[in-house]
Amino acid sequence: MTILFFFLAHWYLSLFAQTFFLHRYAAHQMFIMNMFWEKLFYFSTWLFQGSSFLSPKAYGIMHRLHHAYADTEKDPHSPMYSKNLLDMMKKTLFVYLSVLNNTKDMEDKFKKGVPYWASFERIAGCWFVRMGWGVLYLLFYLQYANYWWMFFLLPIHFLMGPIHGAIINWYAHKYGYVSFKVGDTAKNLLPIDFLMMGESYHNNHHKFGGRANFGIKWHEFDPTYLIIFIFNLVGIIHIKKDNDLKFM
Ligand SMILES: [Zn+2]
Ligand SMILES: [Zn+2]
Repeated sequence: MTILFFFLAHWYLSLFAQTFFLHRYAAHQMFIMNMFWEKLFYFSTWLFQGSSFLSPKAYGIMHRLHHAYADTEKDPHSPMYSKNLLDMMKKTLFVYLSVLNNTKDMEDKFKKGVPYWASFERIAGCWFVRMGWGVLYLLFYLQYANYWWMFFLLPIHFLMGPIHGAIINWYAHKYGYVSFKVGDTAKNLLPIDFLMMGESYHNNHHKFGGRANFGIKWHEFDPTYLIIFIFNLVGIIHIKKDNDLKFM
């Protein structure tokens, strides 16, 4: 029971960091927040993603490239240009690292306004710290796992961030229903997104890239938008009025 709770907590907290901070804030800037909250959510992203912490700068820029070049050769991750899921994840890693290390050639507009906390990332992203998280997960399992098969869940903990990204970038570009005509293969993977906190309404999102609420049809409840709505109400963030963003 403890392991199940830990797994679900890690899954949803890590996913929240990705969809709220990395995707909707760093990449799309659907809302703004002051420096205090930005640093706090930056820190939480590291805390929740742990060993697989993704840099908001690299994620944000890479994701903008995805929207701009979806399903073309310049797309950082397209099932159309990958042999299988692992091949796509490997290619994504190379693009991610080249963006992170500033070796990727691209127009300046893709880099505009992404949050970057260099001194923090040097620590949070280093291999020693990533391995430390891995050891903590392992120790937790050694303490609380009741069955041997539970240890097979550990690789998911180690790679939680990239796995969440790959689920959408692979499956929501291959399977699901299409509500809007878009210039690429984006689909709404699940009619009720209880697994990906709104991320799976990917066709809606490709159509309306600046819209903070990914759900459109009556059954498409977006839990992350509910949190965004409450954060906006209490003044933690401010949803932009004009959601006509450039990176769609
Ligand atoms: Zn997006
Ligand atoms: Zn997409």
